[in-house]
Amino acid sequence: METTRIPGTALTPTRIGLGTWVMGGWMWGGIDDDAAVATIHAALEQGVTLIDTAPVYGMGHAERLVGRALAERGRRDDVVLATKAGLDWEGERPFRDASRRRLVQEIDDSRDRLGTDVVDVLHVHWPDPLVPIEETADAMREIFEAGKTRAVGVSNFSVEQIERFRARCPLHVVQPPYNLFERGIEADLLPYVQDAGMTTLTYGALCRGLLSGKMHQGSTFEGDDLRLRDPKFAEPRFSQYLDAVHRLDELAKERLGKDVVHLALRWLLDRPGVGVALWGARRPDQLAPLAGVMDFELDDAAMAEIDAILADTVQDPVGPEFMAPPTREARAA
Ligand code: NAP
Repeated sequence: METTRIPGTALTPTRIGLGTWVMGGWMWGGIDDDAAVATIHAALEQGVTLIDTAPVYGMGHAERLVGRALAERGRRDDVVLATKAGLDWEGERPFRDASRRRLVQEIDDSRDRLGTDVVDVLHVHWPDPLVPIEETADAMREIFEAGKTRAVGVSNFSVEQIERFRARCPLHVVQPPYNLFERGIEADLLPYVQDAGMTTLTYGALCRGLLSGKMHQGSTFEGDDLRLRDPKFAEPRFSQYLDAVHRLDELAKERLGKDVVHLALRWLLDRPGVGVALWGARRPDQLAPLAGVMDFELDDAAMAEIDAILADTVQDPVGPEFMAPPTREARAA
């Protein structure tokens, strides 16, 4: 399993990390807790050493499951545990709050739920336009200097917001969305992070399952599943994305002896600036392709062919913006 160093720290996680958003049982049509814990164990057994979670994933539920999985297994020190702060919720409706008051409360709540004195990476989950970035950064610095996290990250921040943040607080990690279908960060964020000597934990490796190769025209989603309101999963785009997946799968099989799921993860790991790719899973079997990602690489010709397929199939691309949580004001309105 490939590893990487988080610059400025002693942390050396694997380049694939397990994402636990789905384990909150919220926004993904529910979760089986025992299967979720088994998935965390399966990831660790396969050599994955980074787990990414957040308080808002099920309003504490995912963090509690991660805490349970680690308590059952022991060896907490072998794991790079990443979580977040900066969102609050009313019932099950999240909204942004990256105030000092909220951040210092959340890190202590997270440490309790995760059963650990210190987390390895604490991210600000979303920038909060109602709180000056300087207040958020000063609070994160306070938490870092108190030894409650070993590294500081920001997620969903623009380059300009990162610059303001870094002027007040050490910053080690940036967590943006990135996958074959969502490439907005290539223009400025990825080069900036590289130049600044930081690393990335990129999220959404499989684009909410689209790139697993398991979805088809008849795929349906239930309950609160966010894919019911994801514009990629609505026609006419859904067919375009499925067509792209089909052609990428053909390429993977014919040229590489692989499947599209391997291709999607390998592509991410081979992009300059990507430190760790976060892959979400709810059941152990969903992690079965892991080993098959590590034993090949994509040359320039394959990269060019991938881009040509995307240009040819996805006529009307759309990003992950629909996922952005509201501000406190927008929620109240
Ligand atoms: P993802 O990895 O693109 O997709 C995960 C989903 O794809 C799974 O929940 C599962 O959903 C499906 N899947 C995974 N492996 C599969 C397989 N082998 N076959 C079929 N389906 C498979 O997306 P993600 O969970 O959104 O992102 C990864 C992680 O990044 C998150 O868990 C979270 O830790 C982090 N994240 C952070 C932010 C942020 O704002 N910072 C935002 C999003 C995500 P089904 O079983 O339901 O189909």
